[in-house]
Amino acid sequence: MSPSVADLDAKLDPADASLARTPRVNGLARYGLFIDGAFVDPIGGQWIASEDPVAGKVWAEIPRGTAADAERAVAAAAAAFARGPWPAMSASQRGALLRRLGDLIIEHGEWLAHVEMKDNGKLLAELRMQMKYMANYYYYYGGLADKMEGTVIPSDKPGVFNYTKYEPAGVVVCIMPWNSPLPLMSLKLAPALAAGTTVVLKPSEFTSASLLEFMKLVTAAGFPPGVVNVVTGYGAEVGDALVSDPRVDRIAFTGGPDAGRMINEKAARHMKRVTMELGGKSPNIVFADADLDEAVKGAVAGIFAASGQSCVAGSRLLVQDSIHDAFVAKLTAFIANVRFGHPSDPATQIAPISTRPQLEKIERYVGIATAEGARLVAGGKRAQVPGWPDGLFYEPTIFADVDNRMRIAQEEVFGPVLAVIRFRDDDDAVRIANDIDFGLAAGIWTQSMPRAFAMADRIRAGTIWVNNYRMTSTTSPFGGFKLSGMGREGGIAGMREYMEIKSVWISTGVEFPNPFVRR
Ligand code: NAD
Repeated sequence: MSPSVADLDAKLDPADASLARTPRVNGLARYGLFIDGAFVDPIGGQWIASEDPVAGKVWAEIPRGTAADAERAVAAAAAAFARGPWPAMSASQRGALLRRLGDLIIEHGEWLAHVEMKDNGKLLAELRMQMKYMANYYYYYGGLADKMEGTVIPSDKPGVFNYTKYEPAGVVVCIMPWNSPLPLMSLKLAPALAAGTTVVLKPSEFTSASLLEFMKLVTAAGFPPGVVNVVTGYGAEVGDALVSDPRVDRIAFTGGPDAGRMINEKAARHMKRVTMELGGKSPNIVFADADLDEAVKGAVAGIFAASGQSCVAGSRLLVQDSIHDAFVAKLTAFIANVRFGHPSDPATQIAPISTRPQLEKIERYVGIATAEGARLVAGGKRAQVPGWPDGLFYEPTIFADVDNRMRIAQEEVFGPVLAVIRFRDDDDAVRIANDIDFGLAAGIWTQSMPRAFAMADRIRAGTIWVNNYRMTSTTSPFGGFKLSGMGREGGIAGMREYMEIKSVWISTGVEFPNPFVRR
């Protein structure tokens, strides 16, 4: 039984009375920017309407930040980096704060999951799991904070002691997309704080509410003012101002390749370091020797989980010739009776598309695929869901007879649309898999281990899954080859991205040579 809307809305505020309640104006939650430890109104006095994708109605107002707000936030982050309690803290003390934040996430996960569901429409059951797992980011990097050891270099120069140390990279701007606001933010925030940087977060204009609510936990954990700041608003307005500010040392971006390219070009002007987690068009490859029941589940999880709004979506399904027709039939049968509904209902299997523009983009691509001659075997239209006539639901959609050069095979849709492509043998699978500008991830389904290892070597992507799909962990590096990005998030590599390595040379007492005398 789905809980009532009133029951759900009652959970949009923290249960703990010590955490402030977001004010309501004309029945809508009205958020402030979070700068220097306080919620403040945007200088321009304007807000952006945030839509609940299930009801299809506005439920909150997000500050429309401007360049002036970006300036305030960067000034706060720069001041907190330079002086005050944060730079005086040891790495172990920073780690303790991060672990405290992890505990608070566990304690308040239910509330965070509800806000995120209201804003982007993901399944509540999935969000509950995500929130629980998200605490691990803070535990893991909290533990790592005081373990970034430098080295003593066995120098070839006499009379010196040369060592290296890791230092925080300065002021960091983190820019996020709408598909998984809190976890994608935490992949950046946790290592950045563990490293000792100060941070300005810029969430997507479509899904900013959960991140602003999260700042209540950042405050409760005891992070000093200015260490974490949030400015919301449009990319071209506030995002661009953040990227262009010369006081910002580093940018961590997750989003589409177009915005990524623009940000990268701007960052290059000041030689800012950048990580880019961009899109994908990942191949999920099923060999005839695979366990086909497992592979069907993997194909469905790859493309229809989160309604395909996932950077690692296995949106190109490569199926070996000899099993192609049988496999497509199995796949179509598996999704024939999926249940749409409210994301809070445990029986719901497919949640709505998060934003209206994204729904329209999916429709455009289904039109393109049809015009290109791909054969529609499932879905292909909006789903009508009883009780939610304005919900942004779309049917799981499968196109067969897709040629890898078609746009439906080359361009990221970011929705529940699968392109099925035939292949002959291993070489053909590798050729098709790599014939793309992206390189984020790939799935391989086979019972032959030699084939699994060989394919893992030959496919150019940052993550390879063999007989599983979508497995990620805070302990493991994640990122893309080619147009899918640069740099890595997760694991120890993910923390080094927020640190500079410094080499220190100390004379051990040998007389410093006269520079005009050559020996
Ligand atoms: P987007 O690129 O449109 O926007 C991402 C963020 O960038 C938003 O906060 C936006 O306001 C901001 N932005 C846009 N233009 C900007 C500019 N000129 N300057 C500064 N900021 C700017 O992406 P989206 O539609 O929100 O998200 C979908 C994309 O994100 C997909 O391509 C998806 O693959 C990608 N993604 C990648 C990963 C990954 O880890 N590789 C994870 C999730 C999503």
